[in-house]
Amino acid sequence: MKFNTKAIHGGQEHDPAYGAVMPPIYQTSTYAQSTPGGHKGFEYSRTHNPTRRALEKSFASIENGQYGLAFASGMAAIDAIIKTLKPGDEVISTNDLYGGTYRLFTKVFEKFGVKFKFTGMGDSATVESLITDNTKLIWVETPTNPMMNIIDIKAISDLAHRHDILLAVDNTFATPYLQRPLDLGADIVMHSATKYLGGHSDVIMGAIVVNDEKLAEQLYFIQNASGAVCGPNDSFLTLRGIKTLAVRMERHCDNAKAVARFLEQQDKIERVYWPGFEYHPNHEVAKAQMSDFGGMLSFVTKGNDYKEAIRIVERLKIFTLAESLGGVESLAGHPASMTHASIPKDEREKSGVVDSLIRLSVGIEDHEDLIADLKQAIG
Ligand SMILES: *Cc1c(COP(=O)(O)O)cnc(C)c1O
Repeated sequence: MKFNTKAIHGGQEHDPAYGAVMPPIYQTSTYAQSTPGGHKGFEYSRTHNPTRRALEKSFASIENGQYGLAFASGMAAIDAIIKTLKPGDEVISTNDLYGGTYRLFTKVFEKFGVKFKFTGMGDSATVESLITDNTKLIWVETPTNPMMNIIDIKAISDLAHRHDILLAVDNTFATPYLQRPLDLGADIVMHSATKYLGGHSDVIMGAIVVNDEKLAEQLYFIQNASGAVCGPNDSFLTLRGIKTLAVRMERHCDNAKAVARFLEQQDKIERVYWPGFEYHPNHEVAKAQMSDFGGMLSFVTKGNDYKEAIRIVERLKIFTLAESLGGVESLAGHPASMTHASIPKDEREKSGVVDSLIRLSVGIEDHEDLIADLKQAIG
């Protein structure tokens, strides 16, 4: 099956009870048993729920993986992955990463003795120099948030496997429509399905997909043991979102392209970060591992003027100033004071998240209106 067909039918069966074409919302915590242990495959909804299971199969299908797991949020999914480790284990992570991930790693898991090393991953030799006998996991986000750096998944996966290390990829920005990390050698792919997979800014949801049966068992065990599962209603909404992922992504990509080219020509804009530009340092890698460049981009104002950046985001009318991304509506964010405020300033600036950086999640409106909005805001 090709992608569009999988997005709509992957892992989905009509409801066995009444033939409902859409998966019913099984809003139940428990399931009747005819005799102790005599049930139809479902006992308790923390462990399994039919609506959630339909979503988990869909996640696996669109990522070309064997096993899918759904969580209460992207953070809960990351939490479950790190819980496969033990004290003394080390993780090497992208330095330019989602602020919440950085916070979970450094403020929660370091306390339990897991060590995290942060680095740029443009060059695998730098990553290799940080590997020790205790390194168990490499954590990659690509495109990175918010600098839109591209990391070569295949190169990092070859390196990881030479050292018997697992590679996890946060595929939230690219989505499986544009990039499939398992096909490129990653062991674990993870999503904040809150973003493009859900696609309508109406649900908080996390996803993990893996191919290895043992790893899947470990993760299902943690999912049930820790219990950060999503509810059936949110599962239904995410399933509905996934059905239109392909058409939405095409429009997101086209609109982002138009917006990036417009911003690039503005005198008051110093620089636009978008992997589709030929001069983007990782443009060739992006072209090779992604089928298009996505709906996200960032830019900085001339002179890195903090006040000017704030003025621009406040004046936007169609772009809503808000955290998050990946919905049908366009959003603008100011990472230094919003999504990345939990990363110390010097750490933040090392990876380029300066005070005037503005991040855009370009929606699927008419790009002429989006450009007009930016034009009036930039002035
Ligand atoms: C939003 C986001 C997360 C966290 O996901 P939640 O669903 O908000 O818990 C993780 N990684 C990336 C890249 C994100 O954008």
